[in-house]
Amino acid sequence: MSSKVFYGSPRQARLEAKETLPAKLDLILEQLHLRDRVKDETVVIKMHTGNNIVYSTIHPVFVRKVVEAIKEGGGKPFIADVNWDVAGAEKRGYSHDVIGCDVYHTAGPDEKYYYSHHRPYKNIQDWKLAGMIQDASFLVDLAHVKGHPSCGFGAAIKNLALGCMVGETRGAMHDAMQYDPYWFPEKCPDENVRKAIMQACPFEALVEDKEKPDRLHLHPEQCNACGRCLCVAPPGSLKIDAVNFHSFMEACAISVAITLSTFKPENVVHISLATYMTPVCDCFGFTSMQILPDAGVFGSDDIVAIDQAVLDMTAKTPLIEENIPCSLEVHTREGHPFRWLHGPLKDPYIVTEYGEKLGLGSREYELVDVLPVEKIERAPMGYIPAR
Ligand code: SF4
Repeated sequence: MSSKVFYGSPRQARLEAKETLPAKLDLILEQLHLRDRVKDETVVIKMHTGNNIVYSTIHPVFVRKVVEAIKEGGGKPFIADVNWDVAGAEKRGYSHDVIGCDVYHTAGPDEKYYYSHHRPYKNIQDWKLAGMIQDASFLVDLAHVKGHPSCGFGAAIKNLALGCMVGETRGAMHDAMQYDPYWFPEKCPDENVRKAIMQACPFEALVEDKEKPDRLHLHPEQCNACGRCLCVAPPGSLKIDAVNFHSFMEACAISVAITLSTFKPENVVHISLATYMTPVCDCFGFTSMQILPDAGVFGSDDIVAIDQAVLDMTAKTPLIEENIPCSLEVHTREGHPFRWLHGPLKDPYIVTEYGEKLGLGSREYELVDVLPVEKIERAPMGYIPAR
């Protein structure tokens, strides 16, 4: 069954405030009936407040609009994010005075406040869900869309998947990429060959294992599956395999399933802002040049549908290649632009497939433009060439 995704385009017909993205966010909040749904609810707004000197996270103007809508509806809003991002959030504009509510650590300053959920997956047995998330009665998933080195892109699913779990679980989710073996030391006993394999990688994604020097360790975040290392590695000694990369995305879907299981389905709303999309996550602590044109603001009750709609919309324009940092490369020009940059094994659509398989939502959606761009007739008298 298809889900509704409400959409506000960044395009304007006229230079008027009502045609800009914050005003279109208001229209989306109306379509989602947010005010009608939050009376007396304790509403956690999970957003990524960024880190250090990043300035491409969601602008406080948008955050304040969500906060005010919740207050007008009689809800009690607060922002929550992981402890190391909340530290310094006020320097990036996220203070009570500006956004209209408090900003809390999801699991306390030392991440000791959480609930354990037993759900075995590869290296993970128990998932530690932050207490401030589980204790809330209503969840607003307020996500900034950007590229991501582990899964191609980050938006609604990624915002909850990592941001609602404590650091130990977030680390374990990344370690899931190491669970399936990819290095077979008996096939490469020669130290010089191992060095040559490491040197073949232009991104330093392959390093010597700290504990077992006869093994190589892959940093999947730095790997775009270019295959240069495989040209040097003896047959069978090294795999650059989808199973390792996809484990992170599957773990993201499981993490979201656990978080959403603690809310009534009607008490969750997802909003994604696809502006100033950079190559990597906001947690890197800086803002690079944008690699895609702004694509707009989206809202839905369905976390899979909203990510799918964002991906489909951002797939319509090519990567702005001149804005890519020199340390990265465009490895392919097939599929989604985030895939061009992060490689075919980090196809951003895969996480929505895992999400749908787990029953989190539908990849089929109906896109509802809340204010279609009006076509303006410039010369009603007929065509007159400009001088
Ligand atoms: S596939 Fe390419 S990016 Fe990945 S480890 Fe090998 S050389 Fe490095």
